[in-house]
Amino acid sequence: MTQELHRIILLGPPGSGKGTQAMLLSRDLNIPQISTGDILREEINIGSSIGMAAGQIVSSGQLVPDNIVIEIVKKRLIADDCQQGFILDGFPRTLAQAQAIDTHQIGIDQALFLDVVDALILKRLSGRRVCSKCNSMFHVHYNPPKQVGICDRCGGDLVIRKDDEESTIRKRIAVYHQQTAPVIEYYQKHPSICCHRIDAGSTDLDTPETIAARIRDVLYQEQTR
Ligand code: AMP
Repeated sequence: MTQELHRIILLGPPGSGKGTQAMLLSRDLNIPQISTGDILREEINIGSSIGMAAGQIVSSGQLVPDNIVIEIVKKRLIADDCQQGFILDGFPRTLAQAQAIDTHQIGIDQALFLDVVDALILKRLSGRRVCSKCNSMFHVHYNPPKQVGICDRCGGDLVIRKDDEESTIRKRIAVYHQQTAPVIEYYQKHPSICCHRIDAGSTDLDTPETIAARIRDVLYQEQTR
């Protein structure tokens, strides 16, 4: 896919594969993936003031205050590598964040809503394992490591992310329904941003590649409209 400016928002519940799809799209379109979750985890790891404010909130499955994430995104988007486009992965997650995009006149070309049935969310998230050294992602069902508990890439230990523990997953799903689902409606009614629904898992058989192909189709159709 092409030269066209792609400023994309990826929306969807936890476990809809936003991170994976953002990574694949970022590679395809050669534009950065901006994951507020990754940025927050990085701040928490280095112990910055943002990290100190966000640590407890992230591990409990709640949302970090709007003003903090809005500032993070505004700061990130002025970097040179975002001028040819970007993929926002995990932002906006509240109506206030979506409104901030409009207020700060951040141009967005497409909002893609990755729709997935609730029953698959828990299965996807509870099987996720992350390398404690290099952050590579694995899944006990969909992408198992060669050796249980060990990273294929660097040999590090695979762990369950704190917010992927089952009680926290349930909290994150509830938070999604309360605070993020209205954002989908906001974009479905938005006067200038087109929101596309992508089937991101109505059955267990959809692979990340199948879903990526659906996304490419939508972007291609937009381009040729
Ligand atoms: P993620 O990796 O996108 O699932 O994000 C992990 C956690 O980071 C979320 O459960 C929230 O606690 C926090 N977070 C990420 N993005 C946002 C956002 N846009 N607004 C508020 N909190 C966020």
